[in-house]
Amino acid sequence: MSALFGTYARSEIAFERGEGMRLFSRDGGSYLDFLAGIGVNALGYGDPHVTGRLKEQAEKLWHTSNLFTIEQAELLATRLAENTFADAVFFTNSGAEAVECAIKTARRHFFDAGQEERQEIIAFHGAFHGRTLATIAAGGNPKYTQGFGTPLPGFVHVDVEDIAAVKAHVGSKTAAILIEPIQGEGGINVVSNEFLCALRDICDANGLLLIVDEIQCGFGRSGRFFAHEWAGITPDLMAVAKGIGAGFPLGACLATEEVARSMVPGTHGSTFGGNPLACAVGNAVLDRILEPGFIPHVQETGEYLDWQLRQLMQKYPDRILEVRGRGLMAGIRLAEPAGEFVARLRDNRLLTAVAGQNVVRLLPPLIATRGDVDEAIGIIDATLTANREQLGNDND
Ligand SMILES: *Cc1c(COP(=O)(O)O)cnc(C)c1O
Repeated sequence: MSALFGTYARSEIAFERGEGMRLFSRDGGSYLDFLAGIGVNALGYGDPHVTGRLKEQAEKLWHTSNLFTIEQAELLATRLAENTFADAVFFTNSGAEAVECAIKTARRHFFDAGQEERQEIIAFHGAFHGRTLATIAAGGNPKYTQGFGTPLPGFVHVDVEDIAAVKAHVGSKTAAILIEPIQGEGGINVVSNEFLCALRDICDANGLLLIVDEIQCGFGRSGRFFAHEWAGITPDLMAVAKGIGAGFPLGACLATEEVARSMVPGTHGSTFGGNPLACAVGNAVLDRILEPGFIPHVQETGEYLDWQLRQLMQKYPDRILEVRGRGLMAGIRLAEPAGEFVARLRDNRLLTAVAGQNVVRLLPPLIATRGDVDEAIGIIDATLTANREQLGNDND
């Protein structure tokens, strides 16, 4: 029996090695990876540039604490600021901590402005923001809050795309609106550009902050550096993680200067956040993501994946109800719960995951090629066919 907490229904497959788009299990199995450690391994496995920089830094210095200047963190923050709306960055070890930092920064901003009563954040049904006490309250999913005491107050939830509901909830206590531009865990729900623009307008009209959670959809995955760029808007705060470390635990909260200003010495901290090893890796990952052509490649391959999935939908109209996503973040909504189908794909050596109830989620490493897409589509196609025969036999 495992000595780990039983918080996951784990598969027995144990991987021991990875290479590019592939993972190899201890018993010799080779798997095509369209999951990437849940959207984390943006560069696949064994990227020589990142591995090289990791080794180099590992031999020099891992950790010093934030009591000292960390040049790798200074550099990474500057580069992130140069390539986004942001002016300042706080580094974390995970996504949830990045969202926590955004929530604290938003509240502190209004506290400093003499508007302490502005604490409330409008968030959305179907959202996922992490597993800490604050972020489960922000997500608002009863499955994750139940049994963990009184949820942290200060969050209300409305439907995505319901502008009237958002406006109805804006009041003298509202501080911010928090949204994933593409809901990941909720089922790969792409929020429309119109809705994101409307949220920006509502924030501007009422002096609220717009917080985007781009932990899953950011860092190139949507075919832009960050997914909110598709709507042509800029947020005031952004939470980032997953792809930023390409497998090394690293996250970040990005903010405009005006908002970051209230986070003075003593207001927030992290022992490990932004340490030299994590930030050396982060800089190496950023080198790769910002290489000319890298993000356009994601966009192009994503369009090809979408097209191929739509062909499959035409072939199996009774099984595939909808294809959605953007870039290399795709969802296949099935007519049935997706868990069983994801397990069959895994038997056929393709790694994917469930999102929401009925959605098969595809989050391949961003280095995926058309050839990789073809291979994945072939496995999904064959699995649907075998599955249909199976279903047919069951009916006999
Ligand atoms: C994964 C995820 C989180 C939580 O990140 P952790 O690193 O698990 O804390 C938060 N928000 C979104 C959108 C995510 O996909």
